[in-house]
Amino acid sequence: MIDLRSDTVTRPTPAMRKAMAEAPVGDDVLGDDPTVAALEEAVAEVLGKPAAVYMPSGTMTNQSAIRAHTEPGDEIVVEAEAHVYYYESGGPAALSGVMCRLVSGNRGVFTAAQLRAALRPANPHFPRTRLVCVENTHNRGGGSVWPIDTVAEVAQVAREAGLRLHLDGARLWNAAVVTGIPERDYATFFDSVSVCFSKGLGAPVGSALAGERDFIARARRFRKQFGGGMRQAGIIAAGALHALRHHRRRLAEDHDHARRLAEALAGMSGIRLDPAAVQTNIVVMRVTRRAASEVSAALREAGVLVHATGPDTLRAVTHLDVGSEDIDRAVECFRRVLEA
Ligand SMILES: *Cc1c(COP(=O)(O)O)cnc(C)c1O
Repeated sequence: MIDLRSDTVTRPTPAMRKAMAEAPVGDDVLGDDPTVAALEEAVAEVLGKPAAVYMPSGTMTNQSAIRAHTEPGDEIVVEAEAHVYYYESGGPAALSGVMCRLVSGNRGVFTAAQLRAALRPANPHFPRTRLVCVENTHNRGGGSVWPIDTVAEVAQVAREAGLRLHLDGARLWNAAVVTGIPERDYATFFDSVSVCFSKGLGAPVGSALAGERDFIARARRFRKQFGGGMRQAGIIAAGALHALRHHRRRLAEDHDHARRLAEALAGMSGIRLDPAAVQTNIVVMRVTRRAASEVSAALREAGVLVHATGPDTLRAVTHLDVGSEDIDRAVECFRRVLEA
């Protein structure tokens, strides 16, 4: 099976497993785990922030950030298909009691003018707008990258309005590799940044949230409240640290694979896809003859796993465990299924 459902399906490499087996550990809720501390320090350094906290998932880093930035009854501005809104089980409502004001971006990227139009004047009739969330790269946008100038313009409008900014950077690593813009240059526009180790970086567990010291101390409290305090977490943090050190630059390979897959699929009948839209490791395509669920079932029979992300859309994601020859084989499977 060639598994293109998500970049979350990667397994730890032998070197990563060795680092995990040998990691020094302690009780992290008591602040005693040296490997978790080393990971948090390394992440803070990469993102140019004073502090960071390790958590079990990106959902928890995002939702802890939203909770730490807001009070119940506040409003946050998010893109209509943003992960924090679309894929986190209603977290903003359930955990923070906030309202989401949606802005529809172009493949997940919205403009400063759109943000300005969504802002409300201070008035007791309105919820208090507190936070703007940006997702880079954008998952449902097909791995699209935010141009840094657009980030700067959006951040300026947010600052002028006294709002705080959160970056869901689960795949910020991919944006940094494809643009050559370091993660910290993106991070500088945000009060908080969430990054993920278990997607393209290939670690088994975890995400981190970075920001100012006081903010991270507050988020740490919500991590505990949401059930994310972990004990000898150095075992898994060691995998994340190994990934951070060794697996960032190789993401360029995943991007090459995605582009090659997209170019081959774009020529097939029954598929609509613009290869120029593939910027990172996610390939989103429309299927025109059969339902996406039927095509994905047939692909599974043929040996390729992909996700149906809508009635007529399929998503294929490249990652650490997909080699160049797997792409060739996947293309052949698509050909067989579509021509059947
Ligand atoms: C995967 C993902 C997350 C976090 O997902 P978890 O499965 O909770 O770790 C957050 N944001 C984006 C954009 C993602 O793609």
